[in-house]
Amino acid sequence: MKEKACKICHLIVTGQTCPNCKSSALSTEYSGVVIIFDANNSQIAEKLQIKNKGKYALRVR
Ligand SMILES: [Zn+2]
Repeated sequence: MKEKACKICHLIVTGQTCPNCKSSALSTEYSGVVIIFDANNSQIAEKLQIKNKGKYALRVR
């Protein structure tokens, strides 16, 4: 299944809705993937305002 990125929280998802924010605003047009292991101690997570660990897109169109 093709991976999509959530337009709201940038989480990479494979289903129809984002398990993180329950949004169905998903896009296949994204670039840059970052994997967050520890959202509390990551500067990238802080910059992207990520609260949970997971795989995220840097940019979503
Ligand atoms: Zn989301």
